[in-house]
Amino acid sequence: MNNLDVLQANELLLKPELTLLDEIPQAGMGIVVRQGRFTDLGLFAEVQSRHPHLKAIELPGRLLMPGFIDTHNHLTQSYGKALAFGEPSEIFKRIWVPLEQHLTVEDLEISAQLSAFESMRGGFTTVCDAGTRSEAGLEAIETAVNTVGMRCVLSKICHDLGQSPAQTSELEKQASQHLARYPSDGLIHPSLAIAIPEAASDHMLHTVSHLCRESGVAFQVHVNEHVASVERSLVTRGRRPLEVLQHANALGPELLAAHVTLVTPNELKMLKDKGSAVSYNPVASSWKGNAVAPALQMATMGIRIGLGTDGTRGDGFRLLDAAETAQRLTLGMSVADFSVGAGWTWLAMASAWGADAAHLSHVTGKIATGLQADFLLVDINVPELKPSWDLGWELVRLANRSQIEAVFVQGKMRLWQGWPLDWDAKALMQKAQERASIAVNAAPIQRIHPTSANARHPNT
Ligand SMILES: [Zn+2]
Repeated sequence: MNNLDVLQANELLLKPELTLLDEIPQAGMGIVVRQGRFTDLGLFAEVQSRHPHLKAIELPGRLLMPGFIDTHNHLTQSYGKALAFGEPSEIFKRIWVPLEQHLTVEDLEISAQLSAFESMRGGFTTVCDAGTRSEAGLEAIETAVNTVGMRCVLSKICHDLGQSPAQTSELEKQASQHLARYPSDGLIHPSLAIAIPEAASDHMLHTVSHLCRESGVAFQVHVNEHVASVERSLVTRGRRPLEVLQHANALGPELLAAHVTLVTPNELKMLKDKGSAVSYNPVASSWKGNAVAPALQMATMGIRIGLGTDGTRGDGFRLLDAAETAQRLTLGMSVADFSVGAGWTWLAMASAWGADAAHLSHVTGKIATGLQADFLLVDINVPELKPSWDLGWELVRLANRSQIEAVFVQGKMRLWQGWPLDWDAKALMQKAQERASIAVNAAPIQRIHPTSANARHPNT
């Protein structure tokens, strides 16, 4: 039997060449996976002696590491992709909202499944969805992540501006129901969201944040993303986005604040004092922002922090690279800090720290006994990593999605060499291309810049 078959057994004793434990590669480990969890871990000979009935699966040239955690995504927005490239900020007004209005329930499902699949190919085993406006969107994501086998922190959006008191109390009831709806040992973990603080009243901000706090789940909000968002908040509410949350008494450990690129010293202190978490989105900054979150400073201060894609591209290794590079260019260079986090910081942010930011550190984020078996097998026997001197750094700067041989979630192999074993990904891709063309052609999308080809030859 080859590895593809033996790795699909219900109980596994794995013997990888290296295992990433607390961001440090360790040789000679044995790992037992049983009923979806890591049930034993230690020096191989000792683990084998405790499980004499199990035949070890030898994995030479392979690194076993935690799956990546994406702490900020929008799974139903995958039809847009390059339509938003090169465009000024506030893309949602000109592209996402017009496009969303032309998406059917089927489109939402296809879009979410495509996103989840792309993320998983890039090594993500958990994704936090920051919220979709419709009930159909929520159900679509639920269906999609269950089909793909992705772990998902799934938000219900709770905007109350312009609503009657009766509508508001109904919304609060639905929010509570959403939090109670999913079994604790499943793939879906509930969360509540308000897209931007000024989309809700102080009352709703307070209510939602406290519902999340009582349930120990994430309250997802876009905070201080770019100049446009800070100015809009100042004009409509007289306060910066983070100050709006503070004023509403809605700032606490439940908060998972996306972006936080424009942040004052006082705001950094508020985040630290309240135990709030940040999702650092370096690729989103590069593609559509005007600042980069001071992620290294945040981490050093003890602010809880994970990495997020914001739906830009579902590639964990490229996200690690972007996270380090953005800090080096914006903070490291000016103070001659050549190490900016020394490699391991970005691995932690993409796994264990990300799980903590998502309120899932009791579930995933590490290779540790008792946690769910969400992990990657990575081929380290490639020319890019030879000679290998310092794998922590090499994973951040040199590793590539194509090296991910297998992705496991809850102990079950979901992808082998980038492709699912139990559903038809090629058919999904073809359908997505067809359906996306229909939706995009119908939507009144307003692009400011020409396509790359038209920019190259403007007169043809
Ligand atoms: Zn976002």
